[in-house]
Amino acid sequence: MPNPASPVPAPWPAPPQPEPGCAHCADLDNRRTTAREQYDRSAETDCNVMLRRHLREVRP
Ligand SMILES: [Zn+2]
Repeated sequence: MPNPASPVPAPWPAPPQPEPGCAHCADLDNRRTTAREQYDRSAETDCNVMLRRHLREVRP
């Protein structure tokens, strides 16, 4: 999957950005922030996966 936004090869794909005004995105973003604050990398990754999947559904 091409990602023109990142010119430098990243060790991990950039985390998905929540869509403004979407409650589902805001919920996942909140959970991701909480997970990050608790250093819960697996929960943070889960949220990224769910957010990325959700964004693909609403904005293919
Ligand atoms: Zn959304």
